[in-house]
Amino acid sequence: MHSAANPIMPIPGLIDPVPVPRAVTPREDGRVDMLGLTRAQMKGALEEAGLDQKAAKLRSKQLFHWLYHRGETDFEKMTDLAKPMRLWMAERFIVGRPQVVEAQVSNDGTRKWLLRSDDGQDYEMVFIPDADRGTLCVSSQVGCTLNCSFCHTGTMRLVRNLTPGEIVGQVMLARDALGEWPKGSMASVNDDEADDEAQYTADGRMLTNIVMMGMGEPLYNFDHVRDALKLVMDGDGLALSKRRITLSTSGVVPMMARAAEEIGVNLAVSLHAVTKEVRDELVPLNRKYGIEELLQACADYPKANNARRITFEYVMIKDKNDSDADAHELVRLIRKYKLPAKVNLIPFNPWPGTDYECSSQERIRAFSTIVFEGGISAPVRTPRGRDIMAACGQLKSASEKKSKAEMKRLAEEKQAALG
Ligand code: SAH
Ligand code: SF4
Repeated sequence: MHSAANPIMPIPGLIDPVPVPRAVTPREDGRVDMLGLTRAQMKGALEEAGLDQKAAKLRSKQLFHWLYHRGETDFEKMTDLAKPMRLWMAERFIVGRPQVVEAQVSNDGTRKWLLRSDDGQDYEMVFIPDADRGTLCVSSQVGCTLNCSFCHTGTMRLVRNLTPGEIVGQVMLARDALGEWPKGSMASVNDDEADDEAQYTADGRMLTNIVMMGMGEPLYNFDHVRDALKLVMDGDGLALSKRRITLSTSGVVPMMARAAEEIGVNLAVSLHAVTKEVRDELVPLNRKYGIEELLQACADYPKANNARRITFEYVMIKDKNDSDADAHELVRLIRKYKLPAKVNLIPFNPWPGTDYECSSQERIRAFSTIVFEGGISAPVRTPRGRDIMAACGQLKSASEKKSKAEMKRLAEEKQAALG
């Protein structure tokens, strides 16, 4: 049994004040979910459960490998643990996965999962296969506090940070679904030197890249995102290179230097506008951290970690941010800050209730040409998985609507029963 006094796994009360995350949701059977724990946290959990320090250290190293490198969830299959030890663990721990509420496959191969946490919060992840790569779009929060006017996630009422386990759990679930866990040997577990060496290669695999571009603002959940990505990048963990991971931020300037130092993955910045007036409307966080301040932070980012160029995301909204003048100003700004940058032009994806429309194809092409002639690569992102509503926040909202309809039906039934 774990107790509330356990220092590595604080267990707050059952009712979370939104948006404070719950690190560990107590399970009815009293077992502790190891998903998302670091080696040190696993060691702590094993000691808490009664192992001595030395045993806890060795076992945590073995467990780490089984959990994150091999994707094993069944203690019984962890063959280098003695049988009684496997049983002892299975009585006290589990290795969980996010619960899948809905899984959909688009006719273009895009897959989308609606997931549910132990405390009943819904979030989503999307997998986008391409010819030479496969990108998993991972969520960092349930909902988002930032209320960008063009983004459906921002309209969601409920917000909570996802835990490291819920974040890394998305990647692990995708590997389960794609059958992409390496077979590997246990050699590295007994060799201290091997820890940082990625034995896992992206060659021939479907899931090669990760983008933190699902629901939520990752830099508003910094610690959990960092801890989860550390597990993803660990050579004896999921072993994905930091060059294949991109974190997208709407521009949380004060956290960007820390992101460079403590996470060190590629950075994408949701710029979306080049004037204060328009960016204030589209990305209200701009009122706090303006365009110039944001671009200065971008200029400092690669210096801090030798990252490759920064990607600017720019959603194309009709008559809002898509003029020739906007394109020229974008080029000027990127040049002014000498940014090694590329611009991703994203056709606006409309959702029920929005007043915005997507720019015409010709407008997007003209915009792209101007930026390109300014010496900056400006590809147009092809919309994927539209038939399964694979854009930001849409599946979750659809299921919320369903439950609202259900509630209405229940209310009507109740009414009928009463009278
Ligand atoms: N909060 C972070 C990451 C999640 S949003 C951020 O804002 O960067 C991921 C990307 O999806 C962002 O670039 C966002 O602007 C874009 N996006 C959100 N809603 C969209 C919509 N309706 N159509 C097209 N792109 C959208
Ligand atoms: Fe949040 Fe990003 Fe959507 Fe803005 S675009 S509301 S920051 S998820």
